[in-house]
Amino acid sequence: MKTMFFDYNSTTPVAAEVVSAMLPYFSEHFGNASSSHSYGQKALHAIDMARMQIAKAIGANADEIIFTGSGTEANNLAITGIAHKFRGKGNHIITSSIEHSSVYRQCKYLERCGFEITYLPVDKLGKINLSELEESIKKETILVSIMTANNETGVVQSIKDISQIAEKYNVFTHSDAVQALGKMPVNVDEIGVDLLSISAHKIYGPKGVGALYLRRGLGIAPIIHGGGQEKKMRSGTENVPGIVGFGKTCELAITNLDRNIEHLQKIRNLLEDKVRQHILGIEINSSGADRIPNTSSITFPGISSETLLVKLDLNGIAASSGSACGAAEMETSRTLKALGLSEKDQHCTIRFSIGLSTTEKEIEYAIKIIKHLINIHQC
Ligand code: PLP
Repeated sequence: MKTMFFDYNSTTPVAAEVVSAMLPYFSEHFGNASSSHSYGQKALHAIDMARMQIAKAIGANADEIIFTGSGTEANNLAITGIAHKFRGKGNHIITSSIEHSSVYRQCKYLERCGFEITYLPVDKLGKINLSELEESIKKETILVSIMTANNETGVVQSIKDISQIAEKYNVFTHSDAVQALGKMPVNVDEIGVDLLSISAHKIYGPKGVGALYLRRGLGIAPIIHGGGQEKKMRSGTENVPGIVGFGKTCELAITNLDRNIEHLQKIRNLLEDKVRQHILGIEINSSGADRIPNTSSITFPGISSETLLVKLDLNGIAASSGSACGAAEMETSRTLKALGLSEKDQHCTIRFSIGLSTTEKEIEYAIKIIKHLINIHQC
């Protein structure tokens, strides 16, 4: 049976060009970038090149990129790094109720450390209200952390407007752009953020490598202490093959951005048109909002997502009920709840996230199977 992957927001396969770029750094150029001999210098040079590729992809300078072990770690470093460094100025952080758990749980942790966190609600489409954001800023506020694109619905927030509001009050802005990079233009200068998190494995790069953009001149407190790598911001021997792969995949993502967006949009629209056409009573969540082009959150009334996902899997179709982390922990979706979905609808919602190799034929097949499964279930 042919299997089809509709879960590209959880992760992506590593592109062949990325694997080729990484391979020499496993066994041939295996040096530690902190060593002063030629092996070390070769590794250091490769890291510097990747830093430039990544910086270019987000409109940053190379010295503004800090490598981390994941998007999760980049989010943790951004938020706790600001919290600890600027504790003297204030203890209030503003975020949203729909953030990925690597932001949400970090904020929950900071609450236990004496910080006050405001979790902004979203409207029916999944957007933050900018007036509400502005009203929630107070003199103790040190950071606004709002994701660029949501992993479950794909909804894109107005980060430029958000950072302009924050700047008026001398508050730093961080954005989790893990799901945005490679699916829409992301330019740190244009959107005016101070910190931005990205991750390689969401854009056809390797797992276990992320990066934090940290605006030049902004000092934050490190969360990992040790050998002082990454300008003392992230100690630990660098994952050279992973970093090289991240650099290469960023280069590819940016070179092919327009073409990729066009493809993803075409296939996602086909999926949504066909679902609307063939299955009665469905709801495509946040379909009226600005979304990244590959994500579709669909509520199928009358069938639980758990049942539908198992049956889809038995038919070779891999989708998801929300974020991969949430799924593993059987956590109900904070995002769907924040959108105002009833508990029942939250349990009947599936996320389809398509990728660069998803074809129209795969969509046709998936629709046939979904229609069949829903008909059987509803009888
Ligand atoms: N932020 C968002 C929006 C995500 O979707 C994810 C992963 O699903 C992360 C952060 C965490 O990234 P990583 O898997 O690299 O830790």
